[in-house]
Amino acid sequence: MRLFLPLLIGLLVGALLYFTKGWWGFFIIFPWIGACIALGLFIAAQKPKAKRDQGRRIAILAIAPIFLIFLGIYQRENLQLEQTVFYLAAGAFSRVLIHYTVAKVLGPLIWGRGFCGWACWTAAILEWLPIQENRPIPKNHARFRWLFLLASLLIPLLFIWSGYDYRQAQIYESGGKFDQLVWFAVGNGFYYITAIILAFRFGKKRAFCKIACPVSLIMKIPAQYARIRIRPSGISCIGCGQCSRNCPMDVDVMAAIRSGKPLQSAECILCGACRHICPVGAIQ
Ligand code: SF4
Ligand code: SF4
Ligand code: SF4
Repeated sequence: MRLFLPLLIGLLVGALLYFTKGWWGFFIIFPWIGACIALGLFIAAQKPKAKRDQGRRIAILAIAPIFLIFLGIYQRENLQLEQTVFYLAAGAFSRVLIHYTVAKVLGPLIWGRGFCGWACWTAAILEWLPIQENRPIPKNHARFRWLFLLASLLIPLLFIWSGYDYRQAQIYESGGKFDQLVWFAVGNGFYYITAIILAFRFGKKRAFCKIACPVSLIMKIPAQYARIRIRPSGISCIGCGQCSRNCPMDVDVMAAIRSGKPLQSAECILCGACRHICPVGAIQ
C-alpha cells in the first residue's frame, strides 16, 4: 500500500485540479509524478540496502520530462521562479502558481522538501553526475542563495519597470508563447550550467542546492512544519557518523538521531540516503 500511496495522491490531486480548473494536463502531470515515485519506491524495495538510492534517482529522472518536455517545450510554460514573479505581477492564477502552491508552499507542510529529493528537474541531472565525493559545503556559502533570490526577483521586476509587456508572456495569450520558451530556455540553461560547474568545483552533486538555489529559501519556510520527517527507529545509534557524512544536504543527522527526536532541519530533502547507509537501522 505504501508503494501505491504517491500514485493515489497524484490521481487525487490531478482529478481535483482537473475538475476545478478544467485543464486536462493536470490529469497527466500529477498522476505521472505519483507513478514515477511509486516506481522509484518499488525499485528501491527490490535492491540491497547499499543500492536502494537507485530507485529515487530513477524516479527523479523519469519525472523531469513532464516539467521540461511536456510543460516547458510542448505547453511552453516556464515554471521557474522568475516567471512566477511575472504571473504574480499580472495577477494571473496560472499553472505556474498552482505548481508553486502544491510543490513548494503547501506540499512542504506535509512532505517537507520531498520535491527537492524526488521531483526537481534541476536536481534530476545533478543526481547522475559522475561525482563520487560528497564534500561538505562551507556553512557561510549558504548566504549566496539570498543573492540568487534577489536576482530572481529583481530581473523580472526590472523587465516590467522597463516597459516589457509581461502579459504577452502569459501562456494563455497566443502571442506570448515564444516569450515563455525563451525564458524557459535561458533560465533553465543558466541553472543547469551553474549547477554543474558548482558540483564539480565543490565535489558535491547538490552544491547548487546549498549555495545558489533561490527556491530552497522559499521552501524552507513551510518545510519547518513538515509532517513527514526522518526520525530515530528506536534501535540504538552506534555513532559511526556515516549518515551525516553521506547526507547530500550536509544535515547533522547523527546528532538528531542520537537526541532521539525527529530531524528538524529544513535542509533535509527526504532522499533517504542516511537511512540506507545506517549499518544498524537506527533511522526510519
Ligand atoms: S534546492 Fe532548488 S535545485 Fe535543489 S532540488 Fe530543491 S528546488 Fe531543485
Ligand atoms: S537527512 Fe537523510 S533523508 Fe534528509 S537529506 Fe540528509 S541523507 Fe537525505
Ligand atoms: S549511520 Fe546510524 S549508527 Fe551511524 S551515526 Fe548515523 S544513525 Fe548512528
